[in-house]
Amino acid sequence: MLPIERQNRIKELILERKNMKISELSKEIGVSEMTIHRDLKPLMEEGTVIKTFGGVMLADMNVSKRSVSDECVLCKRKVNERMAYRLFLPNNKIELACCAHCGLLRSRQLGEQVMQAICPDFFKQTTISAPLAWYIMDTSVHMGCCHPQVLTFEWKELADKFVKGFGGKVYSYSEAMEAIFLKMNGNGLNCSKHH
Ligand SMILES: [Zn+2]
Ligand SMILES: [Zn+2]
Repeated sequence: MLPIERQNRIKELILERKNMKISELSKEIGVSEMTIHRDLKPLMEEGTVIKTFGGVMLADMNVSKRSVSDECVLCKRKVNERMAYRLFLPNNKIELACCAHCGLLRSRQLGEQVMQAICPDFFKQTTISAPLAWYIMDTSVHMGCCHPQVLTFEWKELADKFVKGFGGKVYSYSEAMEAIFLKMNGNGLNCSKHH
């Protein structure tokens, strides 16, 4: 098979199943995982698919927009696409959060129910996989959504540079999730009792 034929086959498979592991694609198409990685690169660059843990998923934003309102699942704020954070749950359920602040807090609440999450890259406005993204808090740039603010970046290198210029701290997905939770609840007060 020519690379372009493989890429079309990969697209078909991902369209059909929405979510696939690299190992599954390698088996289906009968080439090595290295080759699959190479074939996926242009598909990710054109925005058809998004990398996830050990696999890829369809980047069909129209599907995800259809089934949800434009209200944040957590704070009920009207969502601005520039900051929007989406959570993919079992049974094709999708939740929309206004920004990474609410997205991370909601992900922490739902735990393992979250199959995948996507958010925009702060610089390029491309859609990226949230678990693979880098998060910046306490920077001097304010986007006007929730506080404490959380910005999302695809590349750590750029996040580091951003912090050098505008202040703040870079976190990985799991670090950011804990950090935002602690900032909201961890002031030594038993906030949970207020509910
Ligand atoms: Zn919100
Ligand atoms: Zn927000």
